[in-house]
Amino acid sequence: MLEVEGLTKRFGGLVAVKEMRLAIRPGEIVGLIGPNGSGKSTVMKLVMGILRPNAGRVSVDGVDVAGWPSHRVARHGVGLVFQHSRPLHRQTVGENIVLALLPDSLLRLVADPQVERRARAIAERVGLGAVFDRRPATLPFADLRRLELAKAIARDPKVVLVDEPFAGLTAGEVKDFSALIASFRTENKAVLLVDHNVKGVAALVDRAVAMYLGAFVAEGSAAQVMADPTVRAVYLGGAVQA
Ligand code: ATP
Ligand code: MG
Repeated sequence: MLEVEGLTKRFGGLVAVKEMRLAIRPGEIVGLIGPNGSGKSTVMKLVMGILRPNAGRVSVDGVDVAGWPSHRVARHGVGLVFQHSRPLHRQTVGENIVLALLPDSLLRLVADPQVERRARAIAERVGLGAVFDRRPATLPFADLRRLELAKAIARDPKVVLVDEPFAGLTAGEVKDFSALIASFRTENKAVLLVDHNVKGVAALVDRAVAMYLGAFVAEGSAAQVMADPTVRAVYLGGAVQA
């Protein structure tokens, strides 16, 4: 469903992503693991078309979307849950979802009751049904994360990219979020889940891919990746715990 090969991104003299590769089948949840600054978010943005790669292939459903603008990548079936929430603050939760639901050319259909119904269904699914008419500024942090997830899945993407979904959440909220992400399996979505900690996502992911300094390091089950000598060296020598 998603295949990344030779993906490379330079920012001036810095090679943020270097010949990175990974593949995800439909219905599979793959963890992308690496310490701070290893290039995880950059990989997400390259796949989503928010950044243009210097080289490499990003195949979604057999079509190379590398270098496409993000609205075309979205239309082709990719959704990104950003690491940092960024709702439209003047709009309600429901309006934020409606806007995410519609391709730009269809914004005039905002008043369509079907669109509103679909937005409500998405809000219910992520647990925002009760705050549909509220403005994001009045919501607790976890609800802002739910809204980010709602926006990413609004157009029923085949590939869902989730960047550090658990940061700042309580144990109970992490459980809720994990269940939501796990539910994508039954819809045959391919999920790429970024975290800096293998252990934190071990129960949720089918496989893990580790990267370091922009490059591929190891892949396998979460246990295999945790046991990988390079991964162990990176984490034991670095600032984070594997
Ligand atoms: P974190 O765990 O902190 O979120 P990450 O693995 O997501 O880290 P990235 O955000 O992809 O890492 O950053 C990879 C490297 O690229 C870092 O050195 C970062 O400073 C650099 N970088 C990211 N975005 C840009 C940019 N727009 N311009 C210049 N450098 C950037
Ligand atoms: Mg990041």
